[in-house]
Amino acid sequence: MRRLTVLLLALAMLAGLTACGMEPADPNTAQESIQVIAMDTVMTFSIYGEKSTHAVYAAEDEVRRLEGLLSRTDPESDVSRLNAAPAGEAVTVSEDTRSLLEMARFYAMMTEGAFDCTLAPVSSAWGFTEESFRVPSRTELDGLLQHVGWEKFQLPEGQNLTASHDEGVEIDLGGIAKGYVTDVIAGILEENHVPRATISLGGNVLVWGDRPDGTPWRVGIQDPARADAADGYAGFLSLTDAFAVTSGSYQRYFEEDGQRYHHIIDPATGCPADSGLTSVTVVEKRERDANSNILGSGTECDALSTALFVMGEEKALEFWRTERESRQMSFDLVLVTEDGRVVVTDGIADVFTPDETSGYAYETVS
Ligand code: AMP
Ligand code: MG
Repeated sequence: MRRLTVLLLALAMLAGLTACGMEPADPNTAQESIQVIAMDTVMTFSIYGEKSTHAVYAAEDEVRRLEGLLSRTDPESDVSRLNAAPAGEAVTVSEDTRSLLEMARFYAMMTEGAFDCTLAPVSSAWGFTEESFRVPSRTELDGLLQHVGWEKFQLPEGQNLTASHDEGVEIDLGGIAKGYVTDVIAGILEENHVPRATISLGGNVLVWGDRPDGTPWRVGIQDPARADAADGYAGFLSLTDAFAVTSGSYQRYFEEDGQRYHHIIDPATGCPADSGLTSVTVVEKRERDANSNILGSGTECDALSTALFVMGEEKALEFWRTERESRQMSFDLVLVTEDGRVVVTDGIADVFTPDETSGYAYETVS
């Protein structure tokens, strides 16, 4: 069984579409909204402003282009060509693929291997790639884990558009690709001077600007225990200009002999991560500093949501505290635990609203 919908945007969506009359469109209310099915995900782009139509279709084009590069099932994609190449052979890839591989390696190092884009053979053994689910034996997993590790693929310096890998190594960018797409879409929104927008790629959400009435967008964090209910939330975040990315064990899984097996793999065991968490949401503001550098990254939120899910509550919070002190990465977290708690880091405590009907115990940590 699989789930596509994850982090639902609890938006008071306006019905007002782009005006077709004689009057020019109001940049604050003119809106174009489309749904795109790509990357195994139902995506919704709602974009306001005079260039909303141009921007939504530019966003769709980019999603399709990136899917064509990063898909593991399309044999023509960069990732498939790289995976099919003999060990050690340098394969020419696009700029996007190469930079995403660099980022995947960076986050693997930062998270001490909790994020690992070489788990492809292990995910396939569990049937998550081809959707032919099965429980592999310990011996099979141990054999496959020999070929897992971020140091087992190479990004040769001086050859900016190539990559290669060791024997038996296969790449899967599924834990980071949608985050990268939201970064690319943020660029489109900026270029087109979009005043406000909501971009939802399943568990990857980008909210841009504020709502037309000047209040923040409301992003619902799905309750992992009520994933089937359209209105089952663990809480809500009031956000402007921000990425919110959720990884959860309820998003994709199968059941065998009464046991549930989900899609986020612990690279240490080759098995679905059993870390005591049911979901991790990573939040970053997307803004520019005084020197015009972009702060906040959908790619980073996506890599971290997967990695921190693998780490579990204690390590994830330790990681958050260390990064906050070093100021290398600036993010906040909402963790939902198997034992019925929702843990919110203090940087977003003031914008988090619990869902009192959910039955969770809520904690803020600093
Ligand atoms: P996400 O929903 O962003 O947490 O990504 C989950 C997807 O990333 C899975 O469906 C796999 O394709 C891949 N994946 C699974 N485990 C890991 C891991 N530990 N590190 C990186 N990618 C992973
Ligand atoms: Mg992820």
